[in-house]
Amino acid sequence: MSRFLNKRLKGVTPYVPGEQPKDGRIIKLNTNESPFGPSPQVAKRLKEMKGFHRYPDPSTQKATQAISRYYGLDPEQLLLGNGSDELLSFSFYAYGTKMIFPQITYGFYPVVARAFGEHFREIPLEKDLSINPKTYYNAGATVVLANPNAPTGLALKKKEIQGILENNRNNMVIVDEAYVDFGAESVVPLVGKYENLLVIQTFSKSRGLASMRIGLAMAQREIIDDLKRIKYSFNPYSVSGEALAAVEASLEDRLYFEKTTGEVAETRTWFSHEMRRLGHRVVESRANFVLVTGGKAYQEYLWSRGIMVRHFDKKPIADYVRITIGTREEMKKVVEVTEERYA
Ligand SMILES: *Cc1c(COP(=O)(O)O)cnc(C)c1O
Repeated sequence: MSRFLNKRLKGVTPYVPGEQPKDGRIIKLNTNESPFGPSPQVAKRLKEMKGFHRYPDPSTQKATQAISRYYGLDPEQLLLGNGSDELLSFSFYAYGTKMIFPQITYGFYPVVARAFGEHFREIPLEKDLSINPKTYYNAGATVVLANPNAPTGLALKKKEIQGILENNRNNMVIVDEAYVDFGAESVVPLVGKYENLLVIQTFSKSRGLASMRIGLAMAQREIIDDLKRIKYSFNPYSVSGEALAAVEASLEDRLYFEKTTGEVAETRTWFSHEMRRLGHRVVESRANFVLVTGGKAYQEYLWSRGIMVRHFDKKPIADYVRITIGTREEMKKVVEVTEERYA
C-alpha cells in the first residue's frame, strides 16, 4: 500500500476469488463455472469476427435488442456490463449510502460497499440458513439479495420478493440472479411493475461464459439511466465486441441452454441424494452448487485427491463446504473419493 492511497481504501480487504489451477487434471468445483462451456455457436461466431481494430459499440445496440426480444423487456430497460460484478459495483455506487444484505451471501457485497465508503448492515440468516423476507421489510436502506443465495443455494419465491418490494416503496431492491437459471423463480416479470426493482444477471454461470465477462441489468428506464450515467463516467467501452457477439450467439441457441442447465439440475439432485446417503447434511439447492457438511477437513481431504471445492471460514457455514456441480463424471468421482474416506 502506498502512502498516497485514498484513506477510504486503506481499510478495504479486497474480495478473494476462488483459485484458478494451472494443472488440467484437477477437478475444479470451486467457482461455480459451467462444466459444459457455452453453446458451440459462440465459438463459431467468434471465429467469423473481424474488426478488432475498432472500438465496440458503446450502446451495445444489437446485443441489447437480442436480449430485449428474449426477455420481453424494452431495450431501455437493459444494460450490459463487464460481468455482473461491474453492474453490482455501479448499483452500489448509485444506490449505496445505506445498504442491507444477508450476513451470509456473495462475499463481494461487503467489499464493494466498503470500497465506496457506504454504511451497511448484515442480517443473520435463519437457523436453517434461509432468508426471512420479513426481516427486509421497511429496510430504510437499499436491499441487496442474491436469489438463489450464495453459498447456501436456497431461493426465495417470487411472491416473497414481491413482499419485500411492496414494503420498500422508497428503497431500491437489488436482486442478484446469478444462479436463477438452475431452478429458481426469476423476478424479471416484475420489472414493469416496481420502480424500485433492479435485477442483475450474468452469462458467467448458466451460459458458460465466465471468461467473456458479461453481466446484465434489468430495471425500469430511470434506473437503467442512472447506471448508464455511471458507466459513461467510468468506462464507456466496458463490454468488448467479442462479448457482444457471444451474447447474441448464446441467446439464439435456446436448446443448448435448456439442455445444459437441465443437466446440471439433474446432477445436483443425484449428487445431493448420494451425499445424504453418505451421511452428509446437504442444503436444498436451486443453484449450480450445493453446500454440504464436512468443513475445512473435508475440503482439505478433497484437495489432497485433486478436487477443488470452497470452504468459508465463517459462522454459521464453517462446518460446510460448497461444491460446484460439474459433469456427472466429475460428481461421481467426488462421491467415490468421499466413500473412500469412510472406508
Ligand atoms: C458469480 C457471481 C457473480 C459474478 O458474476 P460475473 O458476471 O462473472 O461478474 C455475481 N453474483 C453472484 C451471487 C455470483 O455468484
